[in-house]
Amino acid sequence: MLTYQTYIDGKWVDAASGKTFQTFDPYTGEPWASIPECDKVDVDRAVEAASRAFEAGPWPKMTPTARGRIMRRIAQLIEKHAEHLGQIEVRDNGKLISEMAAQTKYMPEWFYYYGGLADKIQGAVVPVDRPEHFTYILREPVGVCAFITPWNSPLMLATWKMAPALAAGCTVVIKPSEFTSASLLEFMKLVIEESGLPPGVVNVVTGYGAVTGEPLVTHPKVAKVAFTGGSVTGARVNELAAKTFKKVSLELGGKSPNIVFDDCILDDAVSGAVSGIFAATGQTCIAGSRLLLQESIHDKFVEKLVAMAKTARLGNPALAETQVGPVTTPPQYQKILSYIDIAKGEGAKCVLGGGPATKEEGGGKYFVKPTIFTGVNNKMRIAQEEVFGPVLSIIKFKDEEEAVQIANDIAYGLGAGVWTQSVKRAHAMAARIKAGTVWVNTYRAVSFLMPFGGYKASGLGRENGAEAIEGYLQSKSVWINNGPGGGNPFVMKTAG
Ligand code: NAD
Repeated sequence: MLTYQTYIDGKWVDAASGKTFQTFDPYTGEPWASIPECDKVDVDRAVEAASRAFEAGPWPKMTPTARGRIMRRIAQLIEKHAEHLGQIEVRDNGKLISEMAAQTKYMPEWFYYYGGLADKIQGAVVPVDRPEHFTYILREPVGVCAFITPWNSPLMLATWKMAPALAAGCTVVIKPSEFTSASLLEFMKLVIEESGLPPGVVNVVTGYGAVTGEPLVTHPKVAKVAFTGGSVTGARVNELAAKTFKKVSLELGGKSPNIVFDDCILDDAVSGAVSGIFAATGQTCIAGSRLLLQESIHDKFVEKLVAMAKTARLGNPALAETQVGPVTTPPQYQKILSYIDIAKGEGAKCVLGGGPATKEEGGGKYFVKPTIFTGVNNKMRIAQEEVFGPVLSIIKFKDEEEAVQIANDIAYGLGAGVWTQSVKRAHAMAARIKAGTVWVNTYRAVSFLMPFGGYKASGLGRENGAEAIEGYLQSKSVWINNGPGGGNPFVMKTAG
């Protein structure tokens, strides 16, 4: 068993209470490391450190060019330790090594990109119509930011928040999921500690939602909360943060439609449907968990899809050939199995999978077979609620109009896929679907350059792309009077 400490104010520390909890390898079900169980006392320590680093430390005052240089160093350190960081996440989360190799290879780009943006954050001089005034806008960092992340992509999702926040000059406290804290702690040791970031700029508090997350979200010195997780937790976080008027961004759940028209390239769409729901064992917010098939190709498509999904190799996520790994957490495993029962109870027809995978089928401790339901209608719970597992619901539609209606008839709006060879239809669907991302003839593509986020219950605000940095800045209007004083003190000094 490894023993981790947490990272506060540039030092490695235990929880003040001395309490710890265990983290598990989801492939074997065995505990492999102990993690500090932080509570309000540790949260106070971490926020105070971040606040000192913001108010009195060099980070926000440093030239943005110098900040950018440190961020490029962070990127290089990720490149150096990519393999190890990926392996830790495979062990703690059960993510495939092939997926982690791709993620850790791509993560440095966030730090290069936002590091490069640091000295391109510009205010403006505004020529208000009072010539005796010189008026300008300063762009200032918001202050201490609290990040709360889920278990499904711990390092990647922390990166999406850290990079723009640091470029803006903010300081941060991160609370990772209690199920997957290890990779972030390794990141602190191998990357942050070595990067030259001043102490207190990035801090970590490990622990549970109610005990560690809530004191962080409600802390008076936290200016902004960036949360990724489920929509129910997101609503609670939003409510708590509102009491002290914090800025909030939320990246929440999804039930994304993957829509296949009869004019698509069939084999591409079949592969896109598999990737939409079975990649990462379906544990992604953007899972294409509602497959909308045009009636005319339904039967042929289902046949091809089942044939391809059947070949998925389940097994040890640390092996390069594995295609579907374990479910990350025991409660999530139970939740997926219960949704399979719900779907059966609602009258959906299970045409593949439908339960736990045995050892002979490649399964380990928490494995669910790739599962496909046909005969689903959009009113069923299996069509409306996020399962967050390898369970696909297939819904038939007649025409474009009905596809749009079904796609949008849902509380969520995170992603959507469209498979068609018609350019006209591709643009029409992209415009009509209410989701933060629409992929046409591809699925699950993300980039640091493209904004990512949700419509409706899928979230507030956007991560990635140039606009993400705006979430960590605020404007200050400055009025310098170069003219005479005086005038009527009881009348507002309007311009014009
Ligand atoms: P979750 O909501 O259960 O937990 C997320 C985080 O919130 C964890 O760190 C948890 O400890 C913390 N938390 C729980 N209760 C809290 C509280 N009361 N106050 C403060 N913090 C609290 O989500 P999860 O099960 O870890 O992750 C799966 C969910 O995340 C899915 O719904 C998925 O769609 C969503 N997700 C969204 C995105 C996105 O970018 N939109 C990305 C990944 C995952």
